[in-house]
Amino acid sequence: MVITDIRILQKGFNYSQDGPGNRLVYHLQGCNLHCPWCSNPESMSTAEGEGISTEAVLKEILISELMFFDGGGVTFTGGEPTLQFDALKELLTMLRPYGISTAIETNGTNPRLPELFSLTDYLIMDFKHHSSDKLREYTGVGNETVISNLKAASQSRNQLLLRIPLINGFNASEEDAAGFAKILSPLMKDGFALEVLRYHEYGKDKWAQHGMQYTMQDAFVTDAQFDKFCSILKNNSIKLVRT
Ligand code: SF4
Repeated sequence: MVITDIRILQKGFNYSQDGPGNRLVYHLQGCNLHCPWCSNPESMSTAEGEGISTEAVLKEILISELMFFDGGGVTFTGGEPTLQFDALKELLTMLRPYGISTAIETNGTNPRLPELFSLTDYLIMDFKHHSSDKLREYTGVGNETVISNLKAASQSRNQLLLRIPLINGFNASEEDAAGFAKILSPLMKDGFALEVLRYHEYGKDKWAQHGMQYTMQDAFVTDAQFDKFCSILKNNSIKLVRT
């Protein structure tokens, strides 16, 4: 077996926000997007992060197994975990025989993502914008691959949690809600759900700490905006959840 190094920014246990139950969450270094609201801007650079072999990570996960209570397991997030695709796939494959619950949180832009579907019990995927142009304008990458991955998931998976970060001035208008609903509604099925996350500024200070400029302004959504956005999605038969 090939043992590849994987670069990890940080790791720790988290309950229920990164998949079901208590999970060991690995933040993998590097992201191909540059979202100006990112709460982990230190994860964007592909140059940083300590390399560790997938075999060493596997051992660490196996000795943590008693902590995976309430249906927990291991989650790979970022940054963007699929940026280190081969190492991630190798690790997920190594984990399979042990029956440990696996989860990925991804921005959905990697065209190889469907290769990981059968290796991933719980898939969390962003769907940040219905308009590819708008997504590209803000993050540098459009949504075509996200949509094709969503279609592939709809054909072959029984579980998917989609997430929309709701941001005033970016994607939070009633027209935006209708735009999301038009794309998502035909692709949702039993076991698929959507979580709308309101914009926050938790990562703001980190931008300056890493010599980067935080440019978001007037991005908070009101209660009325949030409720209206959610009601339009619900009226289009999209199941909403809160984790
Ligand atoms: S995709 Fe996620 S990790 Fe990457 S820049 Fe955007 S918010 Fe940050």
